[in-house]
Amino acid sequence: MNLPAFRNELYTDFSTPENRAAMQAALARVRNQLGRSYSLILAGERIDTAGKLTSVNPANPNEIIGTHAKATPELAARAIETAYANFSQWSRTPAADRVRMLVRMAELIRERKLDFDAWLVLEAGKTWIEAEAETAEAIDFCEYYAREMVRLSAPPSVVQMPGERDEFRYLPLGVGVVIPPWNFSLAILCGMAVAALVTGNTVVIKPSSETPTVGAIFAETLLEAGFPPESFSFLPGSGSAVGDILVQHPKTRFVSFTGSRDVGLRINELAARPQPGQIWIKRIVAEMGGKDAIIVDDDCNLDSAVEGVAASAFGYQGQKCSACSRAIVHQRVYDSFVEKLKARTEKIAVGSPEDPAKAMGPVISAGARKTILDYIAVGKNEGRVLVGDSAVPAEGHYIPPTVIVDVESKSRIFQEEIFGPVLAVAKARDFDHALSMANDSQYGLTGAIYSNNAAHVARAREEFFVGNMYINRKCTGAMVGAHPFGGFNMSGTDSKAGGPDYLLLFLQGKSIAEKLT
Ligand code: NAP
Repeated sequence: MNLPAFRNELYTDFSTPENRAAMQAALARVRNQLGRSYSLILAGERIDTAGKLTSVNPANPNEIIGTHAKATPELAARAIETAYANFSQWSRTPAADRVRMLVRMAELIRERKLDFDAWLVLEAGKTWIEAEAETAEAIDFCEYYAREMVRLSAPPSVVQMPGERDEFRYLPLGVGVVIPPWNFSLAILCGMAVAALVTGNTVVIKPSSETPTVGAIFAETLLEAGFPPESFSFLPGSGSAVGDILVQHPKTRFVSFTGSRDVGLRINELAARPQPGQIWIKRIVAEMGGKDAIIVDDDCNLDSAVEGVAASAFGYQGQKCSACSRAIVHQRVYDSFVEKLKARTEKIAVGSPEDPAKAMGPVISAGARKTILDYIAVGKNEGRVLVGDSAVPAEGHYIPPTVIVDVESKSRIFQEEIFGPVLAVAKARDFDHALSMANDSQYGLTGAIYSNNAAHVARAREEFFVGNMYINRKCTGAMVGAHPFGGFNMSGTDSKAGGPDYLLLFLQGKSIAEKLT
């Protein structure tokens, strides 16, 4: 199957009046669909349950986005057993057919891009630009993994032993459980689910309880794209109520998880214990948290460092695993950096993400807001609040962008993932000190260095221990294909989403040697 070379999806330019009008129209279209009820989908069967999951607009918690049938433990077990029963048929569907479905999926998301954007604005609190980047990433995952599957379905050549025909091919694994977070409720859910499906696995998708509606629209789109109803289940439900059942079930072959460290570690531990009747070691891909640092060296372009730090710290309200939550600044430029950062941060307009003039919307929930505010209270004792009292709307889960300076490396706000718009700034004596502070973390997801010192940049290439390192640019905004994404240490199991190794996580190799007579 011949597909044109992969290209990243272009972003809609919201500076043109036509595109702004089109986005307003998409918001109105989606607003007309708010408050609908959604059944869960178990291998094509629509099921309603007594328990309901209600998702709300974080900018206006009185506004219901969707009400979803909530999976019970019994339904979770049934979804795995059904996926197991359907595996043999789906896994035998020719790879070319699965690839065609995935390319169609990309087309459908592309056709409805602004509608997906609007769902993300209203359910996840993303600004237009953040929503657009996420929808484009979902399209990229579909297009990229389609091409990767074409590549992997051609058997790689192996050494031919004399008198034998030797062959190597990839087989799907079996039943996968896909558990995404809310912060990329479309792109990460899509990336993990379609990677599992295109490689021939059946999957049970359990969306985040904060953002099930985007997930439900995605699931409907999978069916429209031609993925057979038997190939997947879409099962909203509380992670604590059904997560263990899905992970521990003896017929579960693998779990693709993205979320917090603690939940990832729990999944890893539970999945490691074989259950009665289980005949494999489960494969766990757990992509987890971050405490990402940007090093600001003394000879860098300070304005561009300030811009990169602010964009990385406050884009999507700091709720990205890649967000900069630590700025480590050389003492020689510390004071001017802090002064410029203050001015830059004070310009950030916080308010409804439906308003394209706002750069920051709400955080995802009342619970998240409380956790973040508690961290800010801790931070007040661990440093000096430089910025943090700008006005925010009273309705909705808003928090002003907050910068705490003069923080020590061992302090809690420098070590623990806050997952909100809170940036800790520390002063480094020299570059060595900066690098050692950056690496003083249990996490190792993203990081950046702003420097014009070639020797320092070379050392950071070798010694800055993060999965995604950036030089003289922000530490968010990884692009599929160009920046395969995933971190080290407690940031996860070292997988690289959107990269050439990723689909292998959903496959196993089989060698076949035939003696020639
Ligand atoms: P989370 O609380 O860990 O939840 C993630 C998913 O796990 C949700 O679907 C959740 O369901 C489910 N879950 C909860 N308890 C479970 C259990 N016992 N068994 C199975 N599943 C369970 O994380 P989050 O708040 O959604 O997301 C934020 C975190 O994700 C941050 O730590 C961030 O750094 C990380 N993240 C990492 C990456 C990466 O690529 N490394 C990317 C994005 C986000 P419920 O919603 O029903 O609880």
